[in-house]
Amino acid sequence: MTGHVLITGGGTGIGRAVAASMAPAHAVSLVGRRAAPLDQTASGLREARGFAADVTDPAALAEAVRAAEAAFGPVTVLVAAAGISQTAPVAKTAPEMLRRMFAVNVEGVLNAIQLVLPGMTDAGFGRIIAVASTASLKGYAYAGGYAATKHAVLGLIRSLALETAKTGVTANAVCPGFADTEMTAASIANITAKTGRSDDEARAALAKNNPMARLIAPDEVADAVRWLAGPAAASITGQAIAVAGGEVM
Ligand code: NAD
Repeated sequence: MTGHVLITGGGTGIGRAVAASMAPAHAVSLVGRRAAPLDQTASGLREARGFAADVTDPAALAEAVRAAEAAFGPVTVLVAAAGISQTAPVAKTAPEMLRRMFAVNVEGVLNAIQLVLPGMTDAGFGRIIAVASTASLKGYAYAGGYAATKHAVLGLIRSLALETAKTGVTANAVCPGFADTEMTAASIANITAKTGRSDDEARAALAKNNPMARLIAPDEVADAVRWLAGPAAASITGQAIAVAGGEVM
């Protein structure tokens, strides 16, 4: 074991792929709302445990981080993957929808950072990696609220990178394009319901955003995260690493 990776949203999708990718070399703590997917993911890994908490509840998240550190020692790598996506035209984006997405996608990341940063600073080493999005770097029609939250989280990470530059802690964002996960499955179902297109047509429409004309595999995002967490990326901080087949450049 070379460190302790704490992954929010670790029970499904990109977070689960990151857990599998990091588990051979690290103890892994999985944080999310539902115990079942966390425990299921953890059960397949070498040294891993689930800690149920909602990232928007600072006290519950603090308790989860405390329990995780009691089990595996101080967190050395934070991967903030918990996120939600809701779609609507900007003209119809209700404040409540926007607030909910900000609570998870921005405050949830901030809450996690604030809990692990003091320990990383004391240790003189840490890796903070937010799973942001291509929506941190460009707009998408009908996803203005989501794009606003993902632009915001990149602003947090870039600023944090400057604040931690002399401390041994790096802060970066990975920015996936449409990825083959539960979140995209929900988007496909939404498109199908709203437009009458078939599942295959809806999936192809999302894949078309990527010049490679395919969805991104969660493992591809996990590989970028593993590199950012490793010694080879010691000079990489404040970056938005797109994993998107050339969709943004
Ligand atoms: P996903 O739905 O499988 O993963 C999101 C995870 O976050 C789930 O496990 C969910 O339970 C958890 N979560 C949501 N709200 C939470 C809360 N309040 N507290 C704790 N956990 C919570 O989908 P995914 O695609 O793996 O998403 C992971 C991240 O990647 C998200 O931040 C998402 O915005 C981002 N992303 C996804 C795509 C895509 O196309 N799927 C593209 C770019 C970025």
